[in-house]
Amino acid sequence: KFKKSLGQNFLVDLNVIREVLDKAYISDKTGVIEVGPGIGSLTEQLAKRAQKVVAFEIDQRLIPVLDDTLSPYSNVKVINEDILKADIEAVIQTEFDGCEEVIVVANLPYYITTPILMHFLERNLSISRYYVMMQKEVGERISARPNSKAYGSLSIAIDYFTEAKVIRNVPKGVFMPPPNVDSIIVEMTARVRPKVAVDDEGVFFALTRGAFAQRRKTILNNYSMLFEEGKENKGRIEAMLKQAGVDPKRRGESLAIEDFARIYESLKSYPELKL
Ligand code: SAM
Repeated sequence: KFKKSLGQNFLVDLNVIREVLDKAYISDKTGVIEVGPGIGSLTEQLAKRAQKVVAFEIDQRLIPVLDDTLSPYSNVKVINEDILKADIEAVIQTEFDGCEEVIVVANLPYYITTPILMHFLERNLSISRYYVMMQKEVGERISARPNSKAYGSLSIAIDYFTEAKVIRNVPKGVFMPPPNVDSIIVEMTARVRPKVAVDDEGVFFALTRGAFAQRRKTILNNYSMLFEEGKENKGRIEAMLKQAGVDPKRRGESLAIEDFARIYESLKSYPELKL
């Protein structure tokens, strides 16, 4: 039986699976990490094209099913582990000898899409591309540009590490059981280095998240809540933003990643402002 709590909606339409694989340019020199293979429909097609597939599945009840489906393929390894606890770096080092690149292909469990993506991206791994199926709303946030409704701190975090683009919408009917939400496939190409140069990503992402804490508020008002004793320090925050060339009356929604990089730099001249 399906476990709703684990986001189990299995892809059963072979045409959609093949289309994902065509877009992902998988060759016999490609190493693939799959997250949540489920009953192995996608995994089997990956195994036919890739040099090696390593698939992480948390649900131990699915392991015998996977072993059975994948028994004809000697280039697949299924690991019964929570992807959020996995040492992906060690897997990349030991499992993909001779592969020209390692990519991630996944029909993600939707309830943990963002934590899973961040688990990969924050680790600076040698993964060149990501092809992931996710909930439509999340995919739109990930690929959003400034001045749009979907744009926010998630868009900026993804833009920092990758170049994201929507590949296609996917109807509910290709899943078993059909999910309650619409789906979308997003391609993310890892940047050689992050889009902007910051030495403390923790501070940088606190600044981007803080700007969207209340979307309707100006960046000045949001930062008055973000910084310690922000209300008392409002004048300083204003000066810090002006030094960065950012009008304190603007909203986070209108600010590009480069604006936040300048805010990050400007903050260095204001040691009194503490997060
Ligand atoms: N990829 C399969 C397909 O396309 O048919 C199934 C995708 S289903 C949306 C998500 C899968 O992720 C399920 O098999 C679920 O058990 C698994 N899963 C959920 N949480 C996980 C986690 N933390 N680590 C690894 N796998 C997980």
